[in-house]
Amino acid sequence: MTVSIWQTSTEQPLYETDVVIIGAGLVGCAAAYYLRQAGRYCLLLEARDVGLGASSRNAGFMLSGLDLHYHQAEARYGEAAAREIWELSWLTHAFWRQVGTAQGVEIRQEGSWLLAEDAQEAAELEQAARRMEACGFTCEFKAGDVLSRGFAAALHQPGDGALHPYALVQALYRSSGAALMANSEVYALESQGSSVMVLSRLARVRARYVLICVNGYAAGLDPYFASKIIPTRAQCLATGPLAQRALEGIGYADYGYYYFRDLPDGGFLLGGGRKHHKAQEGNTTDDRTSAEVQSALENYLKQHFADVAAQASIVRRWAGIMGFTADGLPLVGALPERPNIGFAIGLNGHGLSLGQRWRSALLNTCSMEWRLAFSMPGAWIKIGRGAVALPPTWP
Ligand SMILES: Cc1cc2nc3c(=O)[nH]c(=O)nc-3n(C[C@H](O)[C@H](O)[C@H](O)COP(=O)(O)OP(=O)(O)OC[C@H]3O[C@@H](n4cnc5c(N)ncnc54)[C@H](O)[C@@H]3O)c2cc1C
Repeated sequence: MTVSIWQTSTEQPLYETDVVIIGAGLVGCAAAYYLRQAGRYCLLLEARDVGLGASSRNAGFMLSGLDLHYHQAEARYGEAAAREIWELSWLTHAFWRQVGTAQGVEIRQEGSWLLAEDAQEAAELEQAARRMEACGFTCEFKAGDVLSRGFAAALHQPGDGALHPYALVQALYRSSGAALMANSEVYALESQGSSVMVLSRLARVRARYVLICVNGYAAGLDPYFASKIIPTRAQCLATGPLAQRALEGIGYADYGYYYFRDLPDGGFLLGGGRKHHKAQEGNTTDDRTSAEVQSALENYLKQHFADVAAQASIVRRWAGIMGFTADGLPLVGALPERPNIGFAIGLNGHGLSLGQRWRSALLNTCSMEWRLAFSMPGAWIKIGRGAVALPPTWP
């Protein structure tokens, strides 16, 4: 984003606040919620309006853990960290339930089906199930096509669920009590002594702390994120109402490249389809749909849900931007030499699994002041990592 000389005149209002949160998605609104609980006055600066990024475009899946199967996560991050991530995802789900239920957000806990397209994926699911059972997690591996939908095997996780994502982020925002300035994209952060001047489309705001929660859009805000966050497009389609539910619970197949659920109005949602179009769907913040991915989704619908394709037409297609990191974990920390500018981004397409628990990672990688700001004990010690290794002493 650029601004003209006329738009930045001194007539632009100047505000002062304790904390500015940039981005009013799930993460920014969760941050606002905790900061207000800790007695901080915070202002959300949002380029569009509450939740209008990925947080209102996702499928609403509350899945356990990451986009890797459990044994794969153990191999990549170590057994202790994998367990920690899975447990943190359940705590995150509990937080959404607590805030959402109090505000009438539709939340269903009917479990998830991780589904195998072929024998190799079936073997992976079985391995994941064995490791999770060994860790004491509740799950069930089922060989064969238990859903009669053309899958090779299934792993059922009864604790997972689904919700209305836009209603959730709005509920979070309402519960936070934070002030919001919508239509106010931030384009520069100028450090001025111990405070930061935040320059946005509509105002200048002087803040003691700034928390960047813009996920896939981070590189547009500060070049520091250019090679760290890869904006990646995800697409969905939805059908009109069906006479009968096609699936009880949520479905996640082909290592997460396809996912599906029914909708509150009886329609069917199918998302994914970028497996063979990664170059086109990666490194973009353009949230328009593409013919190639939509066609992949339609083919998949006909392959596994021919009854759905036959009885209901497609009523909506959409896309949103996710933020991916190289190691598959959220990126939480503070900018180099600027400890009062923190960030909690890179949710890797699993914001409903990890979008609340990032704060403990922030506390472990950032300044003492951030710890005080949130007044929360750190929990994500082993896997939290950020730009500054140790808390500097606050001036
Ligand atoms: C199609 C799709 C399906 C998905 N399905 C699931 C799912 O089922 N389960 C799951 O857990 N996750 C899913 N995800 C991922 C999930 O939506 C994200 O992980 C989550 O919403 C991230 O929340 P956030 O607050 O970090 O980012 P966002 O919701 O993207 O919020 C970032 C906000 O920052 C604003 N912003 C950007 N730049 C600026 C700026 N310079 N100044 C001010 N504001 C700015 C944006 O307008 C936006 O509102 C899906 C994503 C997509 C796109």
